[in-house]
Amino acid sequence: MFTDASAVIPGGVNSPVRAFAAVGGTPRFITSAQGAWLTDADGNRYVDLVCSWGPMILGHAHPAVVDAVRAAAGQGLSFGAPTPAEVELAKEIIARVRPVEQVRLVNSGTEATMSAIRLARGITGRTAIVKFAGCYHGHVDALLAQAGSGVATLGLPTSPGVTGAQAADTIVLPYNDLEAVRAVFAERGDQIACVITEAAAGNMGAVPPKPGFNAGLRDLCHAHGALLVMDEVMTGFRVSPAGWFGIDGVAGDLYTFGKVMSGGLPAAAFGGPATHMAHLAPAGPVYQAGTLSGNPVAVAAGLATLRNADASVYAALDANAARLAQLVGDALSAAGVEHHVQLAGNLFSVFFTDGPVHDYAAAQAAQNWRFPPFFHALLERGVYAPPSPFEAWFVSAALDDDAFAVIEAALPAAAQAAAAAEAP
Ligand code: PLP
Repeated sequence: MFTDASAVIPGGVNSPVRAFAAVGGTPRFITSAQGAWLTDADGNRYVDLVCSWGPMILGHAHPAVVDAVRAAAGQGLSFGAPTPAEVELAKEIIARVRPVEQVRLVNSGTEATMSAIRLARGITGRTAIVKFAGCYHGHVDALLAQAGSGVATLGLPTSPGVTGAQAADTIVLPYNDLEAVRAVFAERGDQIACVITEAAAGNMGAVPPKPGFNAGLRDLCHAHGALLVMDEVMTGFRVSPAGWFGIDGVAGDLYTFGKVMSGGLPAAAFGGPATHMAHLAPAGPVYQAGTLSGNPVAVAAGLATLRNADASVYAALDANAARLAQLVGDALSAAGVEHHVQLAGNLFSVFFTDGPVHDYAAAQAAQNWRFPPFFHALLERGVYAPPSPFEAWFVSAALDDDAFAVIEAALPAAAQAAAAAEAP
């Protein structure tokens, strides 16, 4: 199937990290998924610790979500006109994240960050933006410089096709380094439209902001008339009902959302205070649009997911992440592998280091060559972990004791494989 796919799809995949480039081997072709489990085209079952890279917090094919999608589809697939349900989804998002008074729905996280940056530039009349190395905000031209996720996995400094002018307007700084941000604002403060940051970084592995980092960004932005764009595409509605904002309470000026609020269909959003959002067309001059934006089937999936993500779901996500992180750490310790299991809320990842990782340089300096054998030993034993050391692991509330039994049985051999790995 991969050979077949590679003939008609570049690299055989529709998004680079799916290709197993960082771990070697052949990606699995998934034919169905239910609860915590994926089934591939050969009929093998895997405990899913990727969850479609974040959205599936309730587990796959959750009955309430599938029913909502079926009902919406039966009413028509797309109207290109306002719908009552998209207003409900906007209200659901706004009710959860206090600094957000209005949202515009889009189709992907990439579109959300691209639009938020345009809006920030439109509001401030400035061109420069600040991002952090190892943070990934989608494949927006200006945001690909030293990005995380697949860009990190493939070891790309940036991407051909991004013009010098686009890259020149992007200032890339080390994550968690407030001094570097302060220095840049001192030098170019009147040119900076916004700082965009993952509310907690998940695309270089899970790297939480140091205490005071997000608040420091907010203060520096405000002191210099710039906006803080909190990218909660990954953390939003996953790490708490209100995302990372629900954990650290630092209000951004603009927000981007995706993944969980899509329920697994193509939907995302950006938002902020009504005064900022009023700059968007048709209320204001900053143009932004989409044929399928607010698509009724995607909105139904997102709304059903958020409405079913109650306190018990968040308790289960936290408990499952803590249990999994503990099991992974224990297995690696038992095998004598130097490692650090790092949590950012209920996102976590494994760094083969002797201590915590605070930035992209440290994530790159880890013994990442231990990851491919670790990953494949898990996969062979029915555990589908993210196929890159630079990705967070995503739990769902559907992980049960049966799933954990498979994970527990697989981990000792995986840890041994990591221990036996040899530096290149
Ligand atoms: N922002 C963050 C923090 C992400 O993790 C991602 C995707 O992983 C994006 C933006 C881009 O979202 P999408 O893949 O839906 O375009």
